[in-house]
Amino acid sequence: MRLDHLFAERSRTLSFEFFPPKTDRAWSTLEDTVEALAQLGPDFVSVTYGAGGGTRAKTREVIEHIQGKTGITAMAHVTCVNATRADLKALLDEYAAAGISNLLALRGDPPKGETRFTPTDGGCAYAKDLIDLIRADGRFATLCAAFPEKHPDALSRDADWQNLGNKFSAGACGAITQCFFSVADYQALRARMPNARIIPGILPITDFHALVRFCDRCGASVPAAVRAALEPLAHDKIAVRQAGIAWTVAFCRDLLAAGAPGLHLYCLNRSTATAEVVTALRLAGCL
Ligand SMILES: Cc1cc2nc3c(=O)[nH]c(=O)nc-3n(C[C@H](O)[C@H](O)[C@H](O)COP(=O)(O)OP(=O)(O)OC[C@H]3O[C@@H](n4cnc5c(N)ncnc54)[C@H](O)[C@@H]3O)c2cc1C
Repeated sequence: MRLDHLFAERSRTLSFEFFPPKTDRAWSTLEDTVEALAQLGPDFVSVTYGAGGGTRAKTREVIEHIQGKTGITAMAHVTCVNATRADLKALLDEYAAAGISNLLALRGDPPKGETRFTPTDGGCAYAKDLIDLIRADGRFATLCAAFPEKHPDALSRDADWQNLGNKFSAGACGAITQCFFSVADYQALRARMPNARIIPGILPITDFHALVRFCDRCGASVPAAVRAALEPLAHDKIAVRQAGIAWTVAFCRDLLAAGAPGLHLYCLNRSTATAEVVTALRLAGCL
């Protein structure tokens, strides 16, 4: 189902994000994860797209697997990295032939070893250019990325949110946020564009050091309150996991109470923490 149609029907959605596995063992873990999380009845799932050539074809393979095994609506991530417009159009043909009708249009991060994003000659410089290209194609519903804290390269939050507004004006029917940990940041973004469908991206917290590494990689900050709650427990795997999941559940509850149109969980190809968070929210009547 196209997500623009789904969004018209449902005021709230639950979705999960996977990444293409690199080894046979990781494939089998992902298959088990998909099977387990399908039981939670997500409205859709998404699959990331690698910065290099290696795992790119696997985005489509993972989606074909998910759609074939579970019938769940799936969205493919697409980036502008190392791609001309002709390459991107060929990718759209490939995705359409695979029955994919939803795309998360992203600029992408610089490939490994590079610090700055350099547009490819004849390619797209920003996600908005990619959204324009996809809209001209006409076969896909398109979502984009949003940054409640601001994108790390942006000169200001204002400039970054202006860019987000431009991506909606170009045809995005929704946005998924980078992971973040402040309800106030989300409320500020929603206040800026109250009619835009901005779905919080949630990282279930299970390990303090893993949380810090994940946030470093994506340019998100770990607020002092989260550090204060979890760092003292970092040495105790069970205690930090318990506190992290409890913190995540409370954060999701507050976001939903603040009007979030659903949740998108970064499940990191594992099912347990995501299932615990969703189950706790359902038991509390929040989801
Ligand atoms: C939910 C989610 C999923 C992701 N999945 C992937 C993935 O699968 N693969 C992957 O490689 N990366 C992924 N990323 C990371 C993403 O590619 C990076 O965060 C990237 O640095 C920014 O992408 P964007 O689409 O937001 O870029 P853009 O919207 O193009 O913005 C990039 C920067 O340029 C600025 N900007 C935009 N337009 C202009 C302009 N006209 N003039 C000047 N500045 C401008 C913006 O403010 C921002 O600072 C994901 C991010 C999120 C939030």
